[in-house]
Amino acid sequence: MIELRTPAELDAMRPAGHFVASVLTALSEAADVGVNLLELDALAHRMIRERGAESCYIDYHPSFGAMPFGKVLCTSVNDAALHGLPHDYVLRDGDLVSLDFAVSVDGWVADSAVSLVVGTPRDEDLALIETTERALAAGIAAAQAGKRMGDVSAAIGAVARDAGLGINTDFGGHGVGRTMHGDPHVPNDGRAGRGYPLKPGLVFAIEPWFMHTTDQIFTDPDGWTLRSLDGSRSAHAEHTIAITKDGPIILTARH
Ligand code: MG
Repeated sequence: MIELRTPAELDAMRPAGHFVASVLTALSEAADVGVNLLELDALAHRMIRERGAESCYIDYHPSFGAMPFGKVLCTSVNDAALHGLPHDYVLRDGDLVSLDFAVSVDGWVADSAVSLVVGTPRDEDLALIETTERALAAGIAAAQAGKRMGDVSAAIGAVARDAGLGINTDFGGHGVGRTMHGDPHVPNDGRAGRGYPLKPGLVFAIEPWFMHTTDQIFTDPDGWTLRSLDGSRSAHAEHTIAITKDGPIILTARH
């Protein structure tokens, strides 16, 4: 079911968005060569406890997951594309890290992701991150009341294709509200003018993710982490946004 939020409900969702943004900012500053992924998860967990927030991940157990996730943060490194399960791994020079984080604050969810390189970056990795962020920005710009979800999807897909990247549409954005994953689905490619009409009060996450040289993934033996089939690196960017008559609001904007 697709729910539309009143202006008062959108205001009530803002603290969750601000908190998710503050955690991703702290994690981005903490991520560095020599830092263990479990330390990043512990930092996020500590911030959740201090805020009195509730993790959307720790007990998450959907059909595509082998067991409850058990951590509060997704850490996808290099060829890990999505749903990276934090494990005992120390970040190395040049690693491309995607951090995906969702919590509930006062009963409202926000979901956001950012990608970065620790240490000395490779030019191609910076370009992949830049393309992914540009696709996110294009999707947000297309998220105007009166348009349709296909306009958002088409805008994301066009950026990827212009950059020569393949697009995997198995996972994409989603409605966000009282729970992390709701309708509508927000594919990372599609046809303009088609799909669900964008009405004021619609809240959803837009989350492009692209791999350098493949559009195929497989599941790591850990049961969660999705990796590129050819070992090429992946980047991911995500914001939770709200449609308003005055244009989209980025609830998870970082300052
Ligand atoms: Mg997310």
